[in-house]
Amino acid sequence: MHELSLAASLIECIEKVAKENGLSSVKEVHLEVGEMTHVDPRQLKFCLKVVSQNTVAEESRIYIKRKGPVIRCKGCGLVSRLKRSKELAGFSMSCPSCGSDEVELEEGRELLLKRIKGVKSRKVEDPSLH
Ligand SMILES: [Zn+2]
Repeated sequence: MHELSLAASLIECIEKVAKENGLSSVKEVHLEVGEMTHVDPRQLKFCLKVVSQNTVAEESRIYIKRKGPVIRCKGCGLVSRLKRSKELAGFSMSCPSCGSDEVELEEGRELLLKRIKGVKSRKVEDPSLH
């Protein structure tokens, strides 16, 4: 399953970021998924829940934002972000300016870890304890 290996590498990444920032527990994970990836957000969420067991991200809430692809027109050079089509068919990959369908996909296949939120591990720094 595609989502499972993605989830595993995301958790690895989250653990690293959490460690770098001294977080003892991650509460929120924000992801951005390009529309052109064949990732099912619901499956990805499920996989993340499974993979995050016994990690700092165990109790985190996962937010997934889908982003429309960015195309560059070979005709007029326009770079534009396409909106998600309401129709089932998805996107029409043509330039919104000149209508050319000679377009290149610039963005849309990525899966990004945008940010995480968590709580810092509490150090015992209270001088009254000494
Ligand atoms: Zn164009």
